[in-house]
Amino acid sequence: MIAEIICVGTELLLGDILNTNAQYLSARLADLGVSLYYQTVVGDNEDRLIQTINNAKERSDLIILSGGLGPTSDDITKETVAKALNLPLSLNDDQAKKLEQFFLYRNIPMANNNLKQAFMPDGAIILDNNNGTAAGILIESSRKIFIILPGPPNELVPMFEESVVPYLRRNSNDCIVSRTLKLIGIGESSAAELVQSIIDKQTNPSIAPYAKLSEVHFRITARSTSIEQAQHLITATEVEMRKQLDKYIYTTEEKELEEIIVEILSKNNNTIAIAESCTGGLLSSTLINCSGVSEVFKEGLITYSNESKVRELGVDKNVIDLYGAVSKQVVEQMAIGIKNRAKTDIGIAISGIAGPTGGTEEKPVGLVYIAITYKNETFIKKLQLSGNRMKIRTSAAKQGLVFLYQVLKESDDL
Ligand code: AMP
Ligand code: MG
Repeated sequence: MIAEIICVGTELLLGDILNTNAQYLSARLADLGVSLYYQTVVGDNEDRLIQTINNAKERSDLIILSGGLGPTSDDITKETVAKALNLPLSLNDDQAKKLEQFFLYRNIPMANNNLKQAFMPDGAIILDNNNGTAAGILIESSRKIFIILPGPPNELVPMFEESVVPYLRRNSNDCIVSRTLKLIGIGESSAAELVQSIIDKQTNPSIAPYAKLSEVHFRITARSTSIEQAQHLITATEVEMRKQLDKYIYTTEEKELEEIIVEILSKNNNTIAIAESCTGGLLSSTLINCSGVSEVFKEGLITYSNESKVRELGVDKNVIDLYGAVSKQVVEQMAIGIKNRAKTDIGIAISGIAGPTGGTEEKPVGLVYIAITYKNETFIKKLQLSGNRMKIRTSAAKQGLVFLYQVLKESDDL
């Protein structure tokens, strides 16, 4: 089945909003093993939308449209698809009742133009919207499938998951399953090189490498007649890949590195405190994004100035004067200082030069030191990062997580 996505909305063409629906739908179709060949963005304009629908009809089997299902007169997607397919629209009583109830329940008056949303093309399957007033529409017409979804992502996503995914699964004999091996401590090209021969000879499962910030992911996707059989194929490939990559893999679950770290800390009853300079709280913030972090995270300080490092963390002023704030001597004292202050098992400190100014030949922009103190030992990492200020700061915070994971692993804490 060949699929095509059409996102409707002049605001998309003007760059007012990012086309996250296209990204989401593309990723989900790939998961489901549906080949997506085209994505189009078109404004709220009948002629151009008809042209786009006609093109899509010629070359694709499954055409998913998003946006333009609202109650106002510029929302024309449903009407235009109906026109292109020669389907009359008529008032759907169930839908009209649902709309009335939606407004009654919220105690807001229903505007007259809302009733527009209860008109449906003849023969359409209606997809419930539990998060808004625009019902989705599924039309099977001359061996083509048209699916129209509401534009707001918080309506489109649940509708796709609840109605479209089961529909597509029913229409396919194949099961598609994927698993992602997530790696740290190795670059994309080195990792790919290690498993190139496996990638080359694989067709089912297929293996796709992705470079993420300080991570490499390998997505293994298998197609089979049952989920169990697909899982079995994936496991065989994973075993092969682990022979080369095992020491870099931190998870195959749908979890982020910070979630895995919080789980490890929690399991071992370890507490943590963080002192940050150039990252300005990014590392703490990333960890605090994880649920369950309150068990482990005690304190995070942004000790940006030298005075703050001395006052809050007990860093020796003479050491700063001698080596500079971005030095292994200072991050070491920062890590020990925050650990003692917060009485935690682990202390982490980051200090670096985020730029664009402030670099010298000896200490260029992007120089970052990270210290982790744990079990009476302090580990220090020196990094030379590149990019603009934000990139250096986010990379430094991410490297803090990577380093923490590696220290926990060295300490047999996993
Ligand atoms: P509409 O259904 O066209 O009235 O769209 C309603 C709202 O949904 C828009 O104002 C956007 O905020 C959002 N939206 C529409 N299309 C997209 C899209 N392709 N990606 C992300 N958000 C969208
Ligand atoms: Mg719109």
